[in-house]
Amino acid sequence: MPPKYKSYNLKNFEQIPQVQKLSEEIRFSIKVVGNVLPFKVNNYVVEELINWNNVPDDPMFHLTFPQKTMLQPHHFDKMANVLKRGSLKEEIRNTANEIRMQLNPHPAGQQEGNIPELACEKLEGMQHKYQETTLFFPSQGQTCHAYCSFCFRWPQFVGIDELKFAMKESELLVDYLKEHPEITDVLFTGGDPLIMKSKVLASYIEPLLEADLPNLRNIRIGTKALGYWPYKFVTDKDSGELLELFNKITDTGLHLALMGHYSHPVELQTDINKEAVRRVRSTGAQIRTQSPLLRHINDTSDTWAEMWREQVKQGMIPYYMFVVRDTGARHHFDITLHEAWDIFRGAYNQVSGIARTVRGPSMSAGPGKVHVLGVSEVAGEKVYTLQFLQGRNPEWVGRPFFAKYNKDAVWLDDLEPAFGEDVFFFEKEYPGAAKSNNSSTVDLESLLSNVS
Ligand SMILES: *Cc1c(COP(=O)(O)O)cnc(C)c1O
Repeated sequence: MPPKYKSYNLKNFEQIPQVQKLSEEIRFSIKVVGNVLPFKVNNYVVEELINWNNVPDDPMFHLTFPQKTMLQPHHFDKMANVLKRGSLKEEIRNTANEIRMQLNPHPAGQQEGNIPELACEKLEGMQHKYQETTLFFPSQGQTCHAYCSFCFRWPQFVGIDELKFAMKESELLVDYLKEHPEITDVLFTGGDPLIMKSKVLASYIEPLLEADLPNLRNIRIGTKALGYWPYKFVTDKDSGELLELFNKITDTGLHLALMGHYSHPVELQTDINKEAVRRVRSTGAQIRTQSPLLRHINDTSDTWAEMWREQVKQGMIPYYMFVVRDTGARHHFDITLHEAWDIFRGAYNQVSGIARTVRGPSMSAGPGKVHVLGVSEVAGEKVYTLQFLQGRNPEWVGRPFFAKYNKDAVWLDDLEPAFGEDVFFFEKEYPGAAKSNNSSTVDLESLLSNVS
């Protein structure tokens, strides 16, 4: 019998029997942090993925339940006091927004830098940053089965509606693709597009197939559904319809890629996940996998090697290891670039070439995806060797460049050019690129002042 979907959030999480056994202190922490950062989980994650004997250290618990140290102590105390006073909703919300604005809600210039235009009109439900790939945010796919605690898209889940990138019409998408023949890939993302009913997803994808766009080659769907709700592909009422849609895409000769988010080996081990993967692959779709490297969750080489081995065994293709983004609760999860490189190498060197399709550690930053190739010594200077895997300017890709070694660096903006250079080569074109991460905070502020 397929299980019934049960979703939990801040309002009802104390109905979860396993949560009732947690200490009062842990439950209060969940409330405090959950009032600032998004919190949502479902019965599959609770019953099949979290090992409650291992809580609070359990990695899947850290991945889905708010943790006290995800907020800086002064932010935590501020919200804790507001809640202890039994404050009104409005005061709780104002305090939450005040804290959120200090958490760099739109890293990498997402809000102002990447939004495309068609006939001078901004297409708010899209981002077009890298020449060949456009991101599309279907308005009904802007939530998830469960929220990952590290997620850089957190502002769109906390109820500040103006911040949602969403677009109702796939018509606009088709028009945009017609005007931009350089685009070969459309990446449906969110949120999680596979939270949508299959019919709704089809209503977004079918117009693309029917438009017969000569340059379109790859349809990608970014999703966590294999990890958080594999029943979507196996027993849900519309699972058959979903697989039919996948078949239809591959039958037209397009490549269909699921960009599957897996952050811990446990997500790969359930029978229902394995069956879901088998069914997706039987449609001709490929599954490429990615996750950030996260303290408390997957911060050892063995964890990554195990993930890649198991993914390959199930027929998936390891794709990206990311550095956790500079937003939200990043200080709870972050790992220095040096350690990230060590963890990557320690995993990469123990898997066969078949799993070495993975690239990382990679920072998805303002100017592009920056790959930390490693720490080396050149002409007596200790440096990071870096390269772009993707760049706002495709000319930047694949050119090694160097940053001064800094043992504490966790992100691109902590790095400075090596060998006495003033700026990185790409900053000539994109000034201040490496340091531009906080500019969008201003945007959020002005938006919030308009929220009634
Ligand atoms: C990562 C990313 C893509 C896809 O990049 P690939 O390297 O082709 O997988 C596209 N757009 C944005 C904004 C991205 O961050």
